[in-house]
Amino acid sequence: MLIKNEILKLSQEIKDNKLSLAFNRLDKMIVFKSTYPNCCSNCAGHGFKGSTGCKKDSHQSWNTRLKDFKKFLEAHKYTNDKCKMKEGNIKNYAIRLDVFKTFLNDHNKGLINKDYVLPFSVFKSGNAKLKFMNYSTIPVVNCPGAGACAKDGYCYSLKSLMRPNASLSWLQNQILEDNYFFLIEREFKSHINKHYKKNIKEGSIIDFRLYNDGDFSSLNNMVAWFDLLKKHPNVKAYGYSKSLHLIKELTLLGYEFPANYKFNISSGSKYQYLENDSILLNNPSYRGNFINFNVGRKVSPTKLTKEDTKKIRASFKNKVFICPGVCSSCTSVGHACGSDKFNNMNIIVSNH
Ligand code: SF4
Repeated sequence: MLIKNEILKLSQEIKDNKLSLAFNRLDKMIVFKSTYPNCCSNCAGHGFKGSTGCKKDSHQSWNTRLKDFKKFLEAHKYTNDKCKMKEGNIKNYAIRLDVFKTFLNDHNKGLINKDYVLPFSVFKSGNAKLKFMNYSTIPVVNCPGAGACAKDGYCYSLKSLMRPNASLSWLQNQILEDNYFFLIEREFKSHINKHYKKNIKEGSIIDFRLYNDGDFSSLNNMVAWFDLLKKHPNVKAYGYSKSLHLIKELTLLGYEFPANYKFNISSGSKYQYLENDSILLNNPSYRGNFINFNVGRKVSPTKLTKEDTKKIRASFKNKVFICPGVCSSCTSVGHACGSDKFNNMNIIVSNH
């Protein structure tokens, strides 16, 4: 079983509202991860092809694992018996899958309301590469513009699907976006109030990457996000989008885009033919193009050599900015992808 593929199929089944298929698949995944508890989802035997060996899932203690979901388990009255029953034979990923199944079941039964306790955090703030507040959903399924990036396998989000916390929280977010945007709004406010007290007090801006993974999947979702951003002018949002058809459609409808949002046209879209469309280029939220470039091998932007950067510059007629890879220290004047100072400039990222 390739967990990455199962997650994508699960996401599609939920998107298509084929919930009995989704439950079936979830059950099989739970059995699989219970049977191979220490086999990571990235190994050559059970995970991604081409992986160089099994790194094994982490051996967190039972209590640590349960603590992650304390509020959710309490709210759902998971009994000790139910938990003990699983102790010893269901490990990290399987527990999370089981918790997700409870959430999906509540969705199916119409039990999700404004007070619902969610199992996974909707927003994240900070890791070494991206210190900003960020939000994600499942890639490809929620990217109507997914083209070459998904086909040729350079969509970097696909790599993260082996991580249970990432993939299951993205699945949860997909369901919230499509059905319960009021919960996204609730969590947005509470995340900011909890993690950005200093910014609120000082009146300084909060950087937010809207869709670290995934994209605008519908016009409704796009409007819901933009309406939310308008209510929070202290949040400065940016993103990379392949949903160029939706941006164009919304612009033509006369919708006023939020002043605190910038989008980069992300290469690899099946709507790439719109990249020079004046409707997009004249949209005040347009920052510029973000172009994936193959230097001849997969290499992280932080590991580019002088020869690589020379090669990139030689391939473009106009001046370009080469992505250095760490957004929080990208330039001395802030991160390029969300900055007016980089308006209309192509930003090049190495295929990694
Ligand atoms: S150019 Fe800067 S802001 Fe954009 S992705 Fe690269 S490091 Fe992040």
